[in-house]
Amino acid sequence: MSGEEQVTEVKKGEEFTFQAEMKQLLHLIIHSLYQHKEIFLRELISNASDALNTAHSRLLVDQSLFDADAKLGIEISTDKDAKTLTITDSGIGMSREDLIDNLGTIARSGTQGFLEQLKAAGEEGASDLIGHFGVGFYSAFMVADKVVVRTRSIETDGKALEWSSEGGNAFEISEVEKETRGTEIILHLNEENQDFAEDHRVKSVIKKYSNYVFFPITMGEEQVNEITAIWTKRKSEVTEEEYEEFFKTVSGNFGKPLTTIHTTVEGNLQYHALLYIPESASFEQLFGKEVKGIKLYCRKVFVHDGDTGLLPPYLRFVTGVVDSEDLPLNVSREVVQNNPVSAKIGKALTKKVLGEIESMAKNDMETFKKFWTSFSRVFKEGLRSDFLRKEQLLELMHYETSTQDAESLHTLSAYVERMPEKQTEIYYVAGDSREAALLNPKIEYFKKHNIEVLLFLDPVDEFVIGDGFSEAKYKEKPLKEIDQADLSWIEESDDEDVEQASDDELASLIVAMKDTIGEQVEDVQKSSRLVDSPCALVSSKDGMSSQMEKMMKMMNEQFEGSKRILEINPKNSIIRALAKLAKKDAESDFLKACAEQLFENVMLIEGNLKSTEKMVARNYVFMEKALENVDA
Ligand code: ADP
Repeated sequence: MSGEEQVTEVKKGEEFTFQAEMKQLLHLIIHSLYQHKEIFLRELISNASDALNTAHSRLLVDQSLFDADAKLGIEISTDKDAKTLTITDSGIGMSREDLIDNLGTIARSGTQGFLEQLKAAGEEGASDLIGHFGVGFYSAFMVADKVVVRTRSIETDGKALEWSSEGGNAFEISEVEKETRGTEIILHLNEENQDFAEDHRVKSVIKKYSNYVFFPITMGEEQVNEITAIWTKRKSEVTEEEYEEFFKTVSGNFGKPLTTIHTTVEGNLQYHALLYIPESASFEQLFGKEVKGIKLYCRKVFVHDGDTGLLPPYLRFVTGVVDSEDLPLNVSREVVQNNPVSAKIGKALTKKVLGEIESMAKNDMETFKKFWTSFSRVFKEGLRSDFLRKEQLLELMHYETSTQDAESLHTLSAYVERMPEKQTEIYYVAGDSREAALLNPKIEYFKKHNIEVLLFLDPVDEFVIGDGFSEAKYKEKPLKEIDQADLSWIEESDDEDVEQASDDELASLIVAMKDTIGEQVEDVQKSSRLVDSPCALVSSKDGMSSQMEKMMKMMNEQFEGSKRILEINPKNSIIRALAKLAKKDAESDFLKACAEQLFENVMLIEGNLKSTEKMVARNYVFMEKALENVDA
């Protein structure tokens, strides 16, 4: 997708209109971030730093690129009279296409998702979200009524170009003179934000947000930022504040890290690593095209921040720095994976990170819960991709359970420890929420007998736990959805005094029900596990669970699913009455309507009822019938 090009040439440059979503984004940024305007500077500096990083790694392997000797750095200047603030870098610069694609559209994968999150969050939440994730270049329009970008690409055939916009609908691109590589961004400050034309104001913002940017940021003669490679220091030499500040720089994340892992290894294999698990990450960071969690350095010199493959993908929320002289200079995912040294470092770091998560779960449940809320979805992918560590990962899975407090999380091992001696299987039920799972009629029996059931509240839970081929197990104990559980070990209390439909009547009802809804179910059977509800749908022994079918349907709309068994509860008063009726008048229309209604009710509970029209119409008929017996 590129900017909508207009046919006529306007003035000396070419005019383009912003993509529609861009205007929305701009509007949202300006209105939700007015209290944190200053972050625009962090965003522009971070872009400059990225551009410098890329230039640096390109130059490592190719000295023939444009302006190869230019010093890598960021220069910032103000001009009170002209009311401008200018940020200049000697990074890779941008071509004409780059300008159109990067500064005119939001084709980049994450932004669209981000925009949706923003809208959903409302005014208040939006500023939080933006604060957490950064918004990039457009934030410049919070303080400027005109932005001019002058840039020249690192490619030798590049032209110097100027992009300018007043933030409204359009931007303009024209050719200019510029002899140096990189990008210069000139902000024409609006009336309310003249303070950003003051050096001291700008300096304090740089110190606050960009102190640890790895390239010198200069204002005149003075270098404003510190640039220390704090990962090469000893732990005892780094303060908590420094760790937190560095976290902001390296992750672009506003908040505090959940945990910090700082380790130095000497000997055969030498490296420093300073890794963080953040509190949260943006959609783009987790699900964008390229994950850039970890920056690689070689003796304090930046090498690479693409997908390094050092940590497995399900740990992609981890950010930070790894510095090792043993790493090959030109690292890519393939190189890392095929290089024995980096593979060893990766393995050691993976172990560290998992160890950290483990100790979080053991010693600090509050923090672990935050971690679980933000990253469990990504983390669970490991069950399906990292077979070598599957055992270890299973120990880290946490669930709510039916018998424990809401929102408290429990491991499989804790569950197994609480199991009665005779119980040999681990039970779970899937549902969209705790409430929904606990309202599932099939769980009644377990409640009655006080048997603990794991609640699989994340749609992927059921899918990731197994391997798709054989039965899922934890420590030799099979995991069973409750309707496939073997309940023979449970001692029935004497229910003799509870009224039940007679076998004879029940048989008539089953025949009548099969006549009506037989097409839609595999069978209708007497239930021995329902306690209160009239009926429930259960999977046949080797069938799929309802949640699994939902997943399959999400992936493939054509997926039909297998038919299931409708179990009816002979102790339920509705079933008892219907059984009597069936015995007397198997052809009753009312009986048939009830059979359909019962079936559709359970479909509705499971979220699988396709159309509701018939059900609603039938409901009205029932109401009319009931009202006939009401004295008005
Ligand atoms: P983000 O940095 O999150 O990608 P931005 O809106 O800040 O989003 O920037 C969009 C893109 O524009 C960047 O990804 C980069 O490709 C390009 N860009 C921005 N500033 C610069 C710069 N100073 N030098 C080179 N490219 C830049």
